[in-house]
Amino acid sequence: MSRCIFVFALLLSLSASAQIKNIQVSIDLKNVVEDKVPVTVNVDKIKSETINYMIPKIVPGTYAIYDFGKHIDAFRAFDKKGNLLPVTKLDENTWKIEKAKSLTKITYLVNDTYDIDGENGIFSPGGTNILAGQNFVLNLFGFVGYFEGLSETPYDITINHPADLYGSTALEDADNSPEVDLFKLDRYFTVTDNPIQYNTPDTLSFKLNDIKVELSVYSKNKIHTAEELRVPMEKMMQAQKKFLGDINSTKIYSILLYLSEANEGDAQGYGALEHHNATMVVLPEETDTERLVQDMVDVVSHEFFHTLTPLSVHSEEIQFFDFNKPKMSQHLWMYEGVTEYFANLFQVREGLINQEDFYNRMMDKLYNSLNYNDSIPFTEMSKHILVEPYKENYQNVYEKGAIIGMCIDIIIRDKTAGKEGILDMLKKLSAKYGVSKPFKDDELFGEIVALGYPEVGDFLNNYVADSKTIPYMEIFDKVGVTFANIEKEGGFFIDGNVPYITVNQDDQSLFFVPYATENKGLKAWGIEAGDVIKTINRTAYSIANVYDLVEVSRTWKAGDDITLVVVRNGEEITLNSKIVIPTIEVTVLENEDLPADDPRIKIQKAWLGQE
Ligand SMILES: [Zn+2]
Repeated sequence: MSRCIFVFALLLSLSASAQIKNIQVSIDLKNVVEDKVPVTVNVDKIKSETINYMIPKIVPGTYAIYDFGKHIDAFRAFDKKGNLLPVTKLDENTWKIEKAKSLTKITYLVNDTYDIDGENGIFSPGGTNILAGQNFVLNLFGFVGYFEGLSETPYDITINHPADLYGSTALEDADNSPEVDLFKLDRYFTVTDNPIQYNTPDTLSFKLNDIKVELSVYSKNKIHTAEELRVPMEKMMQAQKKFLGDINSTKIYSILLYLSEANEGDAQGYGALEHHNATMVVLPEETDTERLVQDMVDVVSHEFFHTLTPLSVHSEEIQFFDFNKPKMSQHLWMYEGVTEYFANLFQVREGLINQEDFYNRMMDKLYNSLNYNDSIPFTEMSKHILVEPYKENYQNVYEKGAIIGMCIDIIIRDKTAGKEGILDMLKKLSAKYGVSKPFKDDELFGEIVALGYPEVGDFLNNYVADSKTIPYMEIFDKVGVTFANIEKEGGFFIDGNVPYITVNQDDQSLFFVPYATENKGLKAWGIEAGDVIKTINRTAYSIANVYDLVEVSRTWKAGDDITLVVVRNGEEITLNSKIVIPTIEVTVLENEDLPADDPRIKIQKAWLGQE
């Protein structure tokens, strides 16, 4: 009996979905109205009395609530004769349409996020831009929604655009007209997974074996071009491809770069968002080429490694992503942490950075991780990442998360005499699962053990699913690496995040903090805690020009004359002395002094690709 009901229900669901062939959306970039883009959705044969149209509250890869429905205006639903149907807005992202059986068309206007001050908290690579006639950043989830229960229905998306603007995307355009692009997509997820950027074309492409990489650049003030990024990007991605081996299944990879003017009316969240065949990158336009190249190398390498995880190794929470009632996976340590680790590891393995740079990058991450709450297990933080107190620890996925990746890599290298590393483990997971086959969130650690990594399982259970302190010394020692304290040149007024001066809010003056006398360079001048700075070498300083002060202090050389006028206990005094360069003690990672035949040397070389 129960079987009959099941078959009946199946037939019913098949017949319901068979009626709606596809959802036709048209986006009009030629008729922008007051900075808003008109969108029309055509649909018919809805079987229910009412239906909800939903715009995402959250999208994959962002791990934060964005409420894209906030940017939708003038939502209307019509029947075949053009009569308005009753619509109720249920929440920020949901419109309930009555008399849905006669629904044929929905229209609304979409406002963009880049020109909203603060962008409503939306990270710019996941945001939208509408600059009529010049640039459109179409993260389609900001423009196109889905009918509740019909997210697996195919979409035809037609975009009408000015002929001089080219739409860069990994999607194939099924329309030959220079003013119309047509994208035929299998389901709503694919709509959300393919950003498109329209602008005056500045594109290039190159091949990585069988992958075609396309780069599109929008630089409003023509400060940068795609061409200046060609050589370094190609070199970097060739190295990534070499590092990954034959794992990547992508045929096309589209890099969309939006360069922002970095003011209130433009994007201010820098970084990128990953997709299966693309990444949307936002960086400041006012940057020299060398810096832009380094940012692109760091950002794009991270995003491209996401094609491994989460894109081809992920849990059901990601495979069946709910855009409005999201369930988060426990495994951000892998999706973001291991990805970030790979983005650094491949650079040392493929010779883009040296060993010392790599150690320093990892030490910075370890150091930065101390700013976050270490008593929350990573799996718990990940599962609840949308709410506090977990949310405020999110950035730690790039810091401690990467160190977790490094520890696992070292554990595997140690157990296999250097032959295998964490990349091999990810490849095995990717072979077992893959782009369309998720694992069960609770079963990942067991799967890792079953693949032949019991020690990794122990590590994950103790230090990722539990909040025990990772024994870094013990783990790093397996590859002959240890912590060492070294003396380094320090700053006169600030070291890292530690300032030696602060501001008096009443008169904007600068004065030395109590521990400033511990700074060797300041001590040599004879300063005392609380001394208020009037002038240094006859230039007056206050909070208004504190950056100039820090800048000029970097040019000082040992033995230079210095004259400082300070106010101490209400009295102005002049201190004449010579510059002594301050030093600070910092902890670094370095190689242990090992005899040449120590097996750890071989393991370390295998780990860093230096055999
Ligand atoms: Zn990422």
